[in-house]
Amino acid sequence: MSRPIRGQKHSANYGVHVGLHTGLQCYLFQLPNELLAELAMWLSHPVDLLSLAMSSKHLYNRLTGSNASLIWQRTRAMFQPDPVPDPPGDLTEVAWATFLFGPHPCHTCGRRTFDPPFSFVHRLHLCKVCTTFEL
Ligand SMILES: [Zn+2]
Repeated sequence: MSRPIRGQKHSANYGVHVGLHTGLQCYLFQLPNELLAELAMWLSHPVDLLSLAMSSKHLYNRLTGSNASLIWQRTRAMFQPDPVPDPPGDLTEVAWATFLFGPHPCHTCGRRTFDPPFSFVHRLHLCKVCTTFEL
């Protein structure tokens, strides 16, 4: 990100997004899809890729589109210590990564949790407090 050029009109700056409060431009948005994909594939953890995708609507649309599944597959394959298994047939790569690594409300109390799913079969997330009571 860098500061906008003084006197440059935003209308002549198509594709450059300006931070709402900072006045900063993010040239990440201007990258062609191939370069954005290459950069995103260097993220070694699906949480990092999820964070990048959820950092703006523009990046979300580009990183979660149907042609972006290769990025998610690669990140899933590079996960340490073992690769993440393939998504179930009814989930996309993005939905699978979100289910495994994204924030979820606890099924019991509604608190936001980043804990791994409590039940894969029921696709259930529980926070640490409720997990203690459920066991
Ligand atoms: Zn809970």
